[in-house]
Amino acid sequence: MFFRQSIVLRFIKSATALPLLALISCENTSTLPSLNHEISETDMLVCQSLNFESDAFQLSDSNDSQFNVFESLFLDSNAYQLPGNPTKENLSAYFKDLRKGYFQKDEGIDYSFVRKEYHTFTHAMDVMITTHALLNSGGAVYLNTGERAALVLAALGHDALHTGVNNSFLIQTNHAYFQDTGGNSLQETRSANYVLQLLDKHRILVTSEEMNDTQRNEIHNARNIIEQSILWTDIKRHKEQIEAVELAKKKILNLLNQKRLIQVNEGIVGAGKLDMRQGLNLSAFIDSETKMLIASFILHCADISNPGKDWVKCERWAVLVMNEFFSQGDLQKQLGLKPSMNCDRNTVSVPSCQVGFGKFVIRDLYVLLEEILHDGGGYLLDNFNSNQEKWKALHKSCEKTGSPYTMNFLPPSKEGGWMGQLRSYEK
Ligand SMILES: [Zn+2]
Repeated sequence: MFFRQSIVLRFIKSATALPLLALISCENTSTLPSLNHEISETDMLVCQSLNFESDAFQLSDSNDSQFNVFESLFLDSNAYQLPGNPTKENLSAYFKDLRKGYFQKDEGIDYSFVRKEYHTFTHAMDVMITTHALLNSGGAVYLNTGERAALVLAALGHDALHTGVNNSFLIQTNHAYFQDTGGNSLQETRSANYVLQLLDKHRILVTSEEMNDTQRNEIHNARNIIEQSILWTDIKRHKEQIEAVELAKKKILNLLNQKRLIQVNEGIVGAGKLDMRQGLNLSAFIDSETKMLIASFILHCADISNPGKDWVKCERWAVLVMNEFFSQGDLQKQLGLKPSMNCDRNTVSVPSCQVGFGKFVIRDLYVLLEEILHDGGGYLLDNFNSNQEKWKALHKSCEKTGSPYTMNFLPPSKEGGWMGQLRSYEK
């Protein structure tokens, strides 16, 4: 007993212990049968330790720090529980194998041009943490235990095998991956297939003869959530997803309001921390198709959540993605091809591109998210509005002075997944 306590105390002293404790308190509150459950202020503080403000660059800096986050989310007995209860050994081996999928360099792509600064393992960690934060700030109300765990696992795998160039490039150059997979959600399909194959290899979310029908269904459902939510991260399906969520919104919010103990008078407010504290869970009342849609919507929002983070993170991620795009554009020019949209460093202004992306892609998404997830969506929307003003001011200042925006941020660390070489002026 003493040995166990001393381990726990040592663990609590380290920063990476906090996410573990967060899960203990949050998971317990969301599944409690009593709707009057109170949790202490200390629990609440701990509960928020792995949240929208977590620094994914720092948490992904080394192999060990990455594994500590995964461990706190999946390997503790009170953390996310996947159907079939896979062993800790299998989950650890899965994590290590999945991570490798972010470190490969692909045939047919010239990495002396392509910098792949954005689609690294650090991005995967960031999306996993943000998915957890969205669930923890209200999203968990809509899903059951196994569905939530499947979604967080999907987040970590959603860009596995990403090449560092976009789907259009692979199609334009008739790459072997295009010939194998076809042009429909090309890289998303590869990521989903890779994740499912690794799950089989490590005996995670696989059925066995001794399982009953309910257990088998839970496993099929979790695999389906993983596959479909990864496929829905294709930005080409963004509009289609927003339309589908808009259609389901009224039904979801009406149900939320019906099941709440405390009725909200002024309009129906989306799920939030108060609902979590009261142990509200609607998963048994929502059909599986709608739950799939909500889960995929949460992952898509987490995937493009950078414009809704604090300015320092927002600007750094924007620079990394633009650097990746521009490096693809450089390669396209070298090959005598037309650079894809937003990929020509000579004609695209970073601040103006971010303003446009915010206006035409992000704003509607976060507004809808805030309607369904009041606290999580509200956090992203508030930051987004203030970040948009900063991008607009930067754009104005560049126009006024005639000097371009300076892209002055370092990529993730080597263990964080960046495999390129710094340019001489970055050293
Ligand atoms: Zn992504």
